Amino acid sequence: MNSLWLSDEILKNIDTKRELTENITTDVCIIGAGILGLTCGYYLSKLGYKVAILEKDTIASKATGHTTGKITSQHSLFYDYLTNSYGEKFAKDYLDVNEEAIQNIKNIIDEENINCDFKYQNSYVYTIKKDELATIKKEYKAVSNLGYNCELVTKTGLPFDIAGAICFKNQAEFNPIKYLAGLCKCITNRNGEIYINTTAVDVKMDDSDYITYANNHIIKSKYVIIATHYPFLNFPGFYFTKMYQSTSYLIAVDTKKTLFKGMHISAGVPTLSFRTALYSNKEILLIGGMDHKTGQSSSYKDTYGKLEEVAKKYYPNSDILFRWNTRDCISLDKLPYIGTYSTGTPNMFVGTGFKKWGMTLSNVAANIIVDKICGNYNKYEYLFKSTRLKPIKNHDEFKNMLVQSTNSLLLNKLKRPQMSFYEIANNSGSIIEVNGQKVGIYKDANGKIYAVKPICTHLGCLLSWNDIDKTWDCPCHGSRFNYDGTNLYDPAFKNLDTYDL
Ligand SMILES: Cc1cc2nc3c(=O)[nH]c(=O)nc-3n(C[C@H](O)[C@H](O)[C@H](O)COP(=O)(O)OP(=O)(O)OC[C@H]3O[C@@H](n4cnc5c(N)ncnc54)[C@H](O)[C@@H]3O)c2cc1C
Repeated sequence: MNSLWLSDEILKNIDTKRELTENITTDVCIIGAGILGLTCGYYLSKLGYKVAILEKDTIASKATGHTTGKITSQHSLFYDYLTNSYGEKFAKDYLDVNEEAIQNIKNIIDEENINCDFKYQNSYVYTIKKDELATIKKEYKAVSNLGYNCELVTKTGLPFDIAGAICFKNQAEFNPIKYLAGLCKCITNRNGEIYINTTAVDVKMDDSDYITYANNHIIKSKYVIIATHYPFLNFPGFYFTKMYQSTSYLIAVDTKKTLFKGMHISAGVPTLSFRTALYSNKEILLIGGMDHKTGQSSSYKDTYGKLEEVAKKYYPNSDILFRWNTRDCISLDKLPYIGTYSTGTPNMFVGTGFKKWGMTLSNVAANIIVDKICGNYNKYEYLFKSTRLKPIKNHDEFKNMLVQSTNSLLLNKLKRPQMSFYEIANNSGSIIEVNGQKVGIYKDANGKIYAVKPICTHLGCLLSWNDIDKTWDCPCHGSRFNYDGTNLYDPAFKNLDTYDL
């Protein structure tokens, strides 16, 4: 599951504290060291705030370490939807703030001299199907109406014919891990502290301060930023009622050929995304896509298998170098939640729901949150109001979420599992019933057995087995656990109970 980006050892040289071993006081406690937490840490430490960043695992080891690394305001086909749902001003502000974010990232890279393979590229949403062309044209019209100079094209440089594409110029790509390594250096040089292997388990208000509980110690601070990807505090906030997670897959390929220019993504489903990247000074190809709701079962054949088919079709002599996947949070109205965590927690902030476009949106979120801490007005804050009360534009997904939660919380728990212990083959897993209790069993390649209680430690949903990664995944909110019960992905942060066999 390791990504191309995390194969680089650059993060090992970062001066992190190993883990929190004492009580501390700071101005801002930032929970989560992905791109959002580190961008907030960068801006705040530059302004002279003392920051402490707590990271459950290692730096950028979750969504950000497994991203595609496109920096663009072209968030697939989005502006026709935004204009129809919220009006032209709203859509234009969304476009402008994401364009500004590209420039902000470039400014940081230049100012701090960060070598992260940043490159301006055109970005394309394409279709190969004639009957999808109308959707591309609608998007083109919506974007043009906002005064943005996009182009409708019929050639992109991809190694296959397309029916048409919409092109945004002067977008960019980078190596996200090299970028974050640069941010970490800036933070620690300005006396910011980054603690790894430090899991925040709760945050409480104490007069006008906040107390964060982590590793049996406390962090006292005036401000808290929840940058944990999926907010780990269920109450207040209730984010678990407003978002789901979607997983996508990526492969990195040595094609042994000269590659195309630009960054590309398909308009329809299944999504296919293409860009090039540098690996050992060589240009290689990244192909991504095949997304599905996290926790829903899928197979190697339908995910990596399909991406590999695409690679082999257009580059028959290619070698697959890396395979990885990750997931992102998607809100029901497709807009991120950025700002105050809840109405009752004025100095606690959140940024989440980046819907697979978190390179720009994390910069947008960091600027809004920093402005709130500094007491500055931010003209884009209204787009992403985290305490908004009418999130349900996407009725289909809302219904899906309710059905999924009801099934996983109640109905599936009542169903008898189909498999018996003896039917589980080596190197696979399943839920079985033992004395009326559900038990999750994984048998490794040598037949060694791991038994867990397959109930998510976040909100109690029944987990499902993921045969691709050998993990237990939550179909409700997307938490994931290793086959031995170790928590891997938020919003859960506790391990599963295990059984001795
Ligand atoms: C396959 C895929 C491809 C993508 N490609 C692109 C792209 O090309 N361009 C783009 O703009 N976006 C892309 N995205 C989206 C982007 O990667 C994410 O939106 C972004 O990385 C999220 O950053 P984050 O900082 O919010 O989360 P993360 O990077 O997940 O960081 C959150 C951190 O918080 C830590 N944490 C969690 N709980 C706790 C706790 N209780 N205590 C302490 N620490 C905790 C986690 O360990 C983690 O390190 C993609 C997403 C996917 C799924």
